[in-house]
Amino acid sequence: QAKATGRNALEFYDPQLQAVVRARARLVADIRAGIAGGQFELFYQPQVEGNSVCGCEALLRWRHPREGYVSPAVFIPLAEETGLILQLGEWVLQAACRQLATWAQEPRLAHLTLAVNVSPRQFRQPGFVGQVLAALASAGARPHKLKLELTEGLLLDNLEDTIRKMGELKAHGVGFALDDFGTGYSSLSYLKRLPLDQLKIDQGFVRDVLTDPNDATIARTIVALGTSLGLHVIAEGVETEAQRLFLQAHGCHAWQGYLLSPPVSAERFGALPLTYGLPVQARLRESGAR
Ligand code: C2E
Ligand code: MG
Ligand code: MG
Ligand code: MG
Repeated sequence: QAKATGRNALEFYDPQLQAVVRARARLVADIRAGIAGGQFELFYQPQVEGNSVCGCEALLRWRHPREGYVSPAVFIPLAEETGLILQLGEWVLQAACRQLATWAQEPRLAHLTLAVNVSPRQFRQPGFVGQVLAALASAGARPHKLKLELTEGLLLDNLEDTIRKMGELKAHGVGFALDDFGTGYSSLSYLKRLPLDQLKIDQGFVRDVLTDPNDATIARTIVALGTSLGLHVIAEGVETEAQRLFLQAHGCHAWQGYLLSPPVSAERFGALPLTYGLPVQARLRESGAR
């Protein structure tokens, strides 16, 4: 016992650890400044059903003045820990709703749905439902076009509160997807009680779906499970035509991934072809690049 305490005390004065603590504090200060300074931006990745792009997922990007582009994998967990995710998440909702309203004005893009990632801490705020509805109303965006992506841990944390919040938003037309499905620990009975619309097969299962029989089985099982519960199933991280064909052959409804496009700026998104798998001439015509 004494030995363990001693080791912890030593670690506390470890100069390397001190450097990590300082770097963390600086990153937190930078996130705060970045929110104030407009350094965050949403990128959009198309989602495909059949031959056409039916919607997209908004993915947060940070253009740090010194470090350049910083991945959400780095700053989202820290923002979550420090509570900065509340400000960041509200900004994401507002920016996403403004984008939806802009697309609604363009006949070519007006049909698109937009999926937004919601962090556990953001969802657990008492005012979360009001925050989403306010973002939609002030942008003039249609709730039916907005989909919120939640993760398994978040859903199980306080099941009654979760179901109530989802129900209130669903009554306004907002949809719900369960992100990274298969990596968490939801039981099937929870899955049935939650008012979900979509399951997203985690990219960790998609990556080796053709070479790892276990991943193939998991992917097929998620499709079968989702379908039998009346849910839409989408695969993320689809990078090859062979992966796409496998998933399609097993009944997966939709997909997103580098095979069509990585997440891109709103401007570049507007210039993407909105079809997949049609002859090249038709795609060029459709993209307006005659
Ligand atoms: P996620 O929601 O599961 O998003 C999927 C991640 O896979 C994204 O990483 C996306 O860029 C990447 N991806 C898409 N297609 C492919 C592909 O074909 N191959 C591979 N290898 N990767 C692909 P990204 O943008 O770095 O985001 C990472 C995570 O950060 C997201 O995972 C999400 O959990 C979180 N995140 C991103 N934006 C937001 C946000 O606005 N709010 C919150 N709370 N979390 C966010
Ligand atoms: Mg997501
Ligand atoms: Mg995911
Ligand atoms: Mg993820």
